[in-house]
Amino acid sequence: MKKNILAVLGVALIVSCGTNQQKDQEFMVLKGATAYDGNGGVISNSVVIIREGKIEAIGDSSLEIHGNSTQIDLSGKFIAPGLVDAHVHFAQTGFFDGRPDALDLRDSIDYNMLQSHLQNYPDRYYESYLRSGVTAVYDVGGYPWSIGLQVSAEYNLNAPHVAAAGPLITPVSDQNLLPLNTPGQKQLVNLRSPEFGRQVVRQNSSLGSTGIKIWQIALDDPVFMEGLRAVADEVALQGNKLIVHATGLDQAKEALRLGAKVLVHSVDDQPVDEEFITLAKQAGALYCPTLVVMRGYFNAFKSLKGGFLLEDPNNTVDVDTRKLIQSATLFYDYLPNPEGYSSMITNYESYVNSLEKTMAENIMRVHQAGIPIAVSTDAGNPGTLHGISIYDEMEAMQQAGIPAADILVMATKNGARTMEREGDFGTLEAGKMADLIVLDADPAADIRNMRSISHVMRGGLLRPVDQPFEDNPKDE
Ligand SMILES: [Zn+2]
Repeated sequence: MKKNILAVLGVALIVSCGTNQQKDQEFMVLKGATAYDGNGGVISNSVVIIREGKIEAIGDSSLEIHGNSTQIDLSGKFIAPGLVDAHVHFAQTGFFDGRPDALDLRDSIDYNMLQSHLQNYPDRYYESYLRSGVTAVYDVGGYPWSIGLQVSAEYNLNAPHVAAAGPLITPVSDQNLLPLNTPGQKQLVNLRSPEFGRQVVRQNSSLGSTGIKIWQIALDDPVFMEGLRAVADEVALQGNKLIVHATGLDQAKEALRLGAKVLVHSVDDQPVDEEFITLAKQAGALYCPTLVVMRGYFNAFKSLKGGFLLEDPNNTVDVDTRKLIQSATLFYDYLPNPEGYSSMITNYESYVNSLEKTMAENIMRVHQAGIPIAVSTDAGNPGTLHGISIYDEMEAMQQAGIPAADILVMATKNGARTMEREGDFGTLEAGKMADLIVLDADPAADIRNMRSISHVMRGGLLRPVDQPFEDNPKDE
């Protein structure tokens, strides 16, 4: 297997020795790259020793290599830990077919059949993630089956690692949730009583959910708030963690008072203040900004008339999604008010502009206050495609003022921490899983250089990102 894999790497093979040695003594050495370790450290002319899917050792050129190794020369290149997207949804497609509440295409694309397809073929997006350099994702809300991906994806080198929260708890009424649930399964449940909330927490926790997600906080709904306090209490009893969608400052503060460990979006309605910073620190919360998702919705609506602009030179977007977004103009007639389209687009754009301004200012305040931030896209929402959207998100963070070297840590170590997997991946350290990316240009000089990715390694398996995995030689 190794020989054939190396044949497609497109990187120079310096030495392959010891043909008469035992195969289990062989290992891989990446030599010569500038390595960013995910902790904020950098090693020039690095040596990374990889054995049995793990990093055995990492150091500079003085690191000694004993035994029978396959060495790959990465001189002039850069390596970093595999990227982590800390906010995705496998039950959403990147277009409106997965969000009938935003634009209802159900006369054309049956939502229940779509969900059944997504449940049966989650690998539809796996390769998009890996070939974008994303070796781990956190699905922060979906159907119960999403929780099962945590195990099935873990041992699949064609998949990113997955953490999943499962069904979301919300103040939204069951009636209004109908378009987003199927007759068989619910991804969103209305919090109708404290006892029901506790049941959902116990159920999700028993399935192994990573986190219990609250989708919106209705401060003025006493029934919901009473239920939410019971949910927070039960989350603690179950040893799980509270994660919250709260884009309003007051809602986010209340979430933090209740012990939220992850805020899955930016605060976007007003500047974060000292009280917010203090509460976030007290809670030990991580902040996941999702800066690009609203622009994604805007782009998706815009595509109904002008077509979808896709920047994907390595063709990482899966074929079904590509076809769908390329036929976006066919769905123009599904707009409830096509006559008002132009003014809707204009208004939407100024709305998104103003949200982005507030989010950019807030991410800087949060960063300067020392609250950990994890790169997160909300991929699956219309216009935010699985995999490649991570580049847009990192670039938006840089645009907001975050230094590229800091974004690199937020896209690796902090993402792994959000998924509670920091012991396994997210940094390049001895004992961690061998998940990493190879880049032609320096990501710490400019985060746009993340787009120069040439290879991805998941569990020690190194592959080029510009070729579909099925074109790679199969195991012999
Ligand atoms: Zn989301």
